[in-house]
Amino acid sequence: MQTTPTATAASLITDKWEKRPLLISGPCSAETEEQLVTTAQQLAATGKVDVLRAGIWKPRTKPGMFEGIGAKGLPWLQQARKLTGIPTTVEVATGKQVQDALTFDVDMLWIGARTTVNPFSVQEVADALRGVQVPVFIKNPINPDLELWGGAVERVARAGISRIGLIHRGFSSYGNTEFRNAPMWHLAIEMKRRHPEMLMVNDPSHICGRRDILLDVAQKAMDLDFDGLMIESHLDPDNAWSDAKQQVTPARLAEMFDNIKWRHEDVASESFHMALDKLREQINHVDDELLDLLAQRMRIAEKIGEYKRNNAVTILQTNRWNQVLEKSFGKADKLGLSREFVTRYLDAVHMESINRQNRVMNG
Ligand code: PEP
Ligand code: MN
Repeated sequence: MQTTPTATAASLITDKWEKRPLLISGPCSAETEEQLVTTAQQLAATGKVDVLRAGIWKPRTKPGMFEGIGAKGLPWLQQARKLTGIPTTVEVATGKQVQDALTFDVDMLWIGARTTVNPFSVQEVADALRGVQVPVFIKNPINPDLELWGGAVERVARAGISRIGLIHRGFSSYGNTEFRNAPMWHLAIEMKRRHPEMLMVNDPSHICGRRDILLDVAQKAMDLDFDGLMIESHLDPDNAWSDAKQQVTPARLAEMFDNIKWRHEDVASESFHMALDKLREQINHVDDELLDLLAQRMRIAEKIGEYKRNNAVTILQTNRWNQVLEKSFGKADKLGLSREFVTRYLDAVHMESINRQNRVMNG
């Protein structure tokens, strides 16, 4: 078990903030003092956890579900921190929650996905943060809207917070999918590109909603050069008061962490770089050709648009579109391209063709 740190809280946090990968773990919710402290001690014993998380106020979809233990859980977190030396973090959604968390020495705060969507709430949290220097993580909004995520970042930054981190926890979607929240990795990648100075942490727990695929998602995040992971851990996951299906024991967390294959963003090997440069040059050529071909395809589509206009024929002819899809799937199967990828590609190309024809036909 880690001991109480001699370093000040401020330097402890700075050290953690610099560490990669950062591992944030702890129960979805604080339930009882014993549950929280014992989970924290078991996590500390793994020697892998940098920050202890616990939900104190829980935004639940429906009333009547467990909505968090409330401020009375904050001293439990203080106790867990005292016994393990691990800094703590909680979710905040209101100005009052920010004040309560800071009063009880919580070291980092995070804004949850259901709060990031609401500029009024984010602004209230940001206003409460004015004049304090606490690191703040901002989860992606539940809907796939990067502007909203970026807007929350801006509000918190304008309140004077300098250490802002991002948490990718996936996006709500309707219907049954493999994931509780679709990862939509491209959005996290784009957010990382827009904010290269910020830590990007992946939260496989809320993406997966189930424990059997957590490791796959965590591995993918590490392969995409994310800076850390937030993974829910509970001493008795099946009996957790919230998110039971996705939590893992501290022992399983440690095992998962040991099974992640760590790769570097770069290596200082000349032969590696030469080989990579050569292949990248080939990719650049192929990309150039693809763009030339796409431009050519659009010019043909515009020509077709002229004929359709002159003969009063509709833009979309479902039969023709089915033929294009069928033909492409046959070819994709032979070439080893997935139908899912080919569908997304053709949809994008088709929509652009339709837009071009619309312009030709309707001015
Ligand atoms: C949580 O971290 O327990 C939580 C409620 O997450 P999210 O805001 O991602 O739903
Ligand atoms: Mn949860």
